[in-house]
Amino acid sequence: MRKVDKNFNVAPKELINCAENNEKELLENRHVIGNCYKKSRSKLEELYFEKCAYCETEYLKNTDTWVEHYRPQSVYYWLAYEWSNLIPTCPKCNRIKKAKFPLINSQNRIVSPPVRDGRLDKEKCKADCNELIGELPYVLHPEIDNPEEFLDFELDKNKKGIEITGIDILGRGKNTTEICNLNRESLMLDRQSKVIDNIIQLIEFLLHTNVKEGLTVQSFTGLFSFIVRKLKEDAKNEKLEHTLLRKTILKTNKFEQIVCPYIKNVNQRKIVIKAFKKFCSN
Ligand SMILES: [Zn+2]
Repeated sequence: MRKVDKNFNVAPKELINCAENNEKELLENRHVIGNCYKKSRSKLEELYFEKCAYCETEYLKNTDTWVEHYRPQSVYYWLAYEWSNLIPTCPKCNRIKKAKFPLINSQNRIVSPPVRDGRLDKEKCKADCNELIGELPYVLHPEIDNPEEFLDFELDKNKKGIEITGIDILGRGKNTTEICNLNRESLMLDRQSKVIDNIIQLIEFLLHTNVKEGLTVQSFTGLFSFIVRKLKEDAKNEKLEHTLLRKTILKTNKFEQIVCPYIKNVNQRKIVIKAFKKFCSN
């Protein structure tokens, strides 16, 4: 999951038209709400670089995008066409999350639409308004919450992929991971193959080339700099998959915990760690 910048005040025109033409239905939950919220799809794909809002994999290559209601339509019917309530997901995350939307305290749930002068109060429909923030949902909102404050990564005990762990006191990171099943096997392996395996291949290549000439921290560090430069560039490239993992492994302790165990030779592993510390000190 990565933080996405979306301007909640500039919704796609089609969505605004849908909301205006169906205002009565939205207020009264008359169940005539159609699929016109899907007209926001292309704009969402653009903002999310065609990646799923929850698992951050590219889905367009094989499947369709699903326009997901962050707050489920079945409960929050008045948010059916609300721009800040729509996010793109892959079909798997969509099927797994379904209409789950637990709150830290269920008594905080808003159960009826906000009304002002007989009309839907649009300001109180925006996901960042005090009333909706005050619900304290467990599921993180990628356009409001900064995932870096809630999620971290660990190497699976059997080195079968990279798992996400929650790190915040309220348990929002942990619950988001469970509700969307972000540690399903296919995703854990995907993180490993698309992020970690490429780095290991490059490191092993450098190690192999240098061993012939006698490997020292000094001789390795110079060559290693181009790998670190690439890691830093990739971590800033929001179009790539698993950007949060790419940022996380730039921390020295995480590089040691997640990347280095794949370097088989213990002495070589120590040299790589020392070289890495020269470039990344945090
Ligand atoms: Zn997904």
